[in-house]
Amino acid sequence: MSDDLSLLKIKLNQLISKYKNVSYLETDPICFPKRYKNPLDIEIVSIISCLFAYGNVKNIKNFLDPIFNMMGASPYEFLSQQSSSFSKFLQNLKGYRFQTKEDVVVLFLTLQKILRKKTKQSPIFESYFLNSKESFEKNSSIQNFQKKIESEILITANTKELTYGLQFLIGKWNSKSPKKRISLFLRWMVRNEYPDFGLYKKIKTYQIPYPMDVHIQKLSKVLGIHNQKQVQLNDAFLLTEFFRNINAVDPLLYDFYLTRVGIIDRCKGRYEEKICNGCELKEVCLVVPRGIEPRLQG
Ligand code: SF4
Repeated sequence: MSDDLSLLKIKLNQLISKYKNVSYLETDPICFPKRYKNPLDIEIVSIISCLFAYGNVKNIKNFLDPIFNMMGASPYEFLSQQSSSFSKFLQNLKGYRFQTKEDVVVLFLTLQKILRKKTKQSPIFESYFLNSKESFEKNSSIQNFQKKIESEILITANTKELTYGLQFLIGKWNSKSPKKRISLFLRWMVRNEYPDFGLYKKIKTYQIPYPMDVHIQKLSKVLGIHNQKQVQLNDAFLLTEFFRNINAVDPLLYDFYLTRVGIIDRCKGRYEEKICNGCELKEVCLVVPRGIEPRLQG
């Protein structure tokens, strides 16, 4: 490993030491599935949380907290069993940003339909990502997941076209976007180490694209990893490849901790003395001005 990468690895490990504490889970949507023990509950709560994981964490919590409260101790049981309280639950749902209340209702009706078709087996959605040989493919697995969810929604809504809100929620399968919310869901499901759950056994951590949210995009620029204006799915796979140089087996280890630099430390992706002085990454960050080295005497 080069000296630069070794130094980056040291700084990343310092970042992990700082933020590897359960109190920081509350600063991330992963706090929702962390409330459950049963893998079926964890998976269903994770997919709902990741689909709505856009906007700031406070808004996401304000929207999702009442929903999970209404679903009771087991969201999986709540959705998969015939219950008189389900229609009241649908009535009480609200819209979220680009999703109308009707969009949110259709999503929950779709999830209910999927769960009622399944026997009680975990995992629920892993097969949506796998090809006929039960493997994950870089160029098609996430798209296949999107297509399958989309077709389930279209059947539920009895329509041929998704509304804008539902299309935004699932993403367009044929767009080149980095598909960051689905990548985040995969990280939670596949990685087998804190803070993730490791429920999917047929997909490897190093196969998953990095969840390229706004924080990771900023951080990967100031760390000199990429400089693209418009980030695409391929860049997310390239970022995973980059971190494999530091950690071949578990490159997504750093995702949770790097995003804390944006969410908690308020990294702006540019030098701001007050923020940058306390940052674990300041020695490897390109935007931090370096002191002028004293000239060698003689
Ligand atoms: S040193 Fe400043 S700009 Fe660089 S990562 Fe840290 S907070 Fe962000």
